[in-house]
Amino acid sequence: MIFCFTSLVMLKKSVIVIGAGAWGGWSAYCLQKAGCQVTLVDKSSPGNAFSGSGGKTRVIRMAYGGNEIYTEMVDRSFQLWDDFCELTGEQVIHPKEALWMFNGISSTYAELSQPLMQKRGFALDEISLADLAQRYPQINLEGITSAYIEPKAAYLEASRSCSLVKTEFEKLGGRFVQAEIAKIEGDGKIDALITADRERLKADHYVFACGPWMKNLFPSLALYINVTRQEVYYFDAPANHLGDHLPIWLEFRAGDEMYYGIPDHLQQGFKLAYDQRDWALDPDRDDRDLTATIFEQMNSVLAQRFPALKGAGLHHHHTCVYENSLDGEFIMDNAPSFSNGIILCGSSGHGFKVGPAVGEMVADLITQTKPFPSFFALDRLKGLTRVKSQFEVGLGQIN
Ligand SMILES: Cc1cc2nc3c(=O)[nH]c(=O)nc-3n(C[C@H](O)[C@H](O)[C@H](O)COP(=O)(O)OP(=O)(O)OC[C@H]3O[C@@H](n4cnc5c(N)ncnc54)[C@H](O)[C@@H]3O)c2cc1C
Repeated sequence: MIFCFTSLVMLKKSVIVIGAGAWGGWSAYCLQKAGCQVTLVDKSSPGNAFSGSGGKTRVIRMAYGGNEIYTEMVDRSFQLWDDFCELTGEQVIHPKEALWMFNGISSTYAELSQPLMQKRGFALDEISLADLAQRYPQINLEGITSAYIEPKAAYLEASRSCSLVKTEFEKLGGRFVQAEIAKIEGDGKIDALITADRERLKADHYVFACGPWMKNLFPSLALYINVTRQEVYYFDAPANHLGDHLPIWLEFRAGDEMYYGIPDHLQQGFKLAYDQRDWALDPDRDDRDLTATIFEQMNSVLAQRFPALKGAGLHHHHTCVYENSLDGEFIMDNAPSFSNGIILCGSSGHGFKVGPAVGEMVADLITQTKPFPSFFALDRLKGLTRVKSQFEVGLGQIN
């Protein structure tokens, strides 16, 4: 009996996951659940303010412009976020419908999303502008040419859920270590990780989910990844604009401009952000202060689209960081030069929602040798030079 128990313990695969953001945290949790002995290492705290998973909230939506892999990942993640809330008794996912608005550009992205969503019991319904004006009279629809409602969407609590995932991981017997990995030792195969305090950490497998710091450990990734600045604004919302009755919203404009927001939530005010990937940010050195020109632009979008919020005071501001692959799609692959390492990066501003699905895929790879979809392979980026947004599918200008 004792012998059996010992051999079972010995059979456990040991894994070190580096990075306790949405991707690393869920990977560690799923691996531990799948029977591995996991150590999760982060130089800071899970979902810390400097990381890609920092800040209060993220949107989860299923419309993915006709991409079946992401649609499937979101479907699975919805389920896993719900299961997680039930398990922990903590509501980190807050259902709210999403409104997709297209301003002078084609809505092909939405049209391509519809059949894949329908197949899974989700909807993305076109709504006439007249009906939309009645449903949400607080929104000024000037310039909007088409719109869609996604009834099953939600916002997720970002930093808080990373911390809860780490807690659940520890309850399953996982070990969290606060340390910075400074160096990878090995030739063809990782022998050990060396921390900034010169400690050596060893395991059978290594999963790197270092977000914007990935290039520090894998300099060759600098060819394929750009780290950019992303400012998020929260405005004080007066009661008369009826924020409770507004949806999560996204607006696509010509010239690859995109704005989105979450109405008054969690005592944070009205969130307004933009999606852009051309202002490089050094995650350790650059300041993260509010930029006056962006603030001005946000005020003007707010006043135009939500007239009751014109002149609203600033509740707070957060500068977050996107870690973009060149084509805007994720990178999930073997680590360059190391057979027992996996890299998870290039989350490109849309990776939070699918943290649970990413975690499951990592566990399936390590425990069942089920490969990642080749769509995420690093090789696809060789020869590309321009940073693209995942939203570029079918967003051509109309007329
Ligand atoms: C403003 C903004 C809005 C967004 N909106 C959405 C959205 O609505 N929906 C959505 O799905 N996604 C969204 N995203 C994207 C999403 O937040 C990211 O894709 C996701 O959080 C990335 O998680 P990650 O685990 O890959 O990286 P990170 O969260 O950056 O985690 C990396 C971790 O690794 C640690 N680390 C790095 N190097 C080392 C080292 N050498 N040693 C030890 N630890 C190390 C860091 O401390 C950090 O905690 C948004 C992102 C931003 C910035």
